[in-house]
Amino acid sequence: MSPRLGVLGGTFNPVHVGHVRLALEMAEALGLDGVEIVPAARPPHKPEEGLLPFELRLRLLEMALGDLEGVRANSMEAGRPGPSYTVHTLEELARRRPGDELHFILGSGDLLTLHQWRDGHRLGDLAHLAVAGRDRHGRDAVADYLASRPELGYAPAGPGLWERASGRRLVLVDVPRLDISASFVRDRFRRGSNLRFLLPPAVERELARLRPRLLEIWRERAPSP
Ligand code: ATP
Repeated sequence: MSPRLGVLGGTFNPVHVGHVRLALEMAEALGLDGVEIVPAARPPHKPEEGLLPFELRLRLLEMALGDLEGVRANSMEAGRPGPSYTVHTLEELARRRPGDELHFILGSGDLLTLHQWRDGHRLGDLAHLAVAGRDRHGRDAVADYLASRPELGYAPAGPGLWERASGRRLVLVDVPRLDISASFVRDRFRRGSNLRFLLPPAVERELARLRPRLLEIWRERAPSP
């Protein structure tokens, strides 16, 4: 059987426990052989202001994972010029590992913007989509979204399951939602709040060590006029 590889993309500015739990929950639910977390070198949809340098986001991610079995950081997006589009990452992975079955992991909120991603309809040609959606509300939102976007090519194939003509699937996985985001972490960091249990301990320590530099990068900016 071909190895089943989970791919979790995102900004990770910084990585927090919600990201790592997402990788672990998906690996277990889908019987993945491994998950690679791929930070965006140049996120197309997020401002460069307030973004930690790629090398630092990668190092924090590696610290977060430590020797965790089955989940690894992947720095492949650093090697590509221009904005880090997911479609190019999946194309490159499919080329590099032709035998692997790719499962792209994302939160349901992000799925609902898929039509705005560069070649969003192509992601489902390259990989199965594994979408974290916990409650009925999230499931209904995904069902309505896919029904309203026929160009994405997914037809209902069962509860929480859609399929494309190619046979690639989109599956909603019941991942307990930890209501944490990197923006929330940055906000609490700026205020000097206690970050315990929001971040893996090694990441929390590293953020504390780098505090003056991070405060400079993450400083609050006046809203643009
Ligand atoms: P920001 O607040 O800066 O937008 P974020 O943590 O929401 O950051 P990313 O770092 O880009 O966003 O997230 C990477 C992936 O992890 C996305 O698919 C996102 O939906 C998912 N994700 C983020 N936070 C959680 C969480 N708490 N639980 C489950 N999935 C999450």
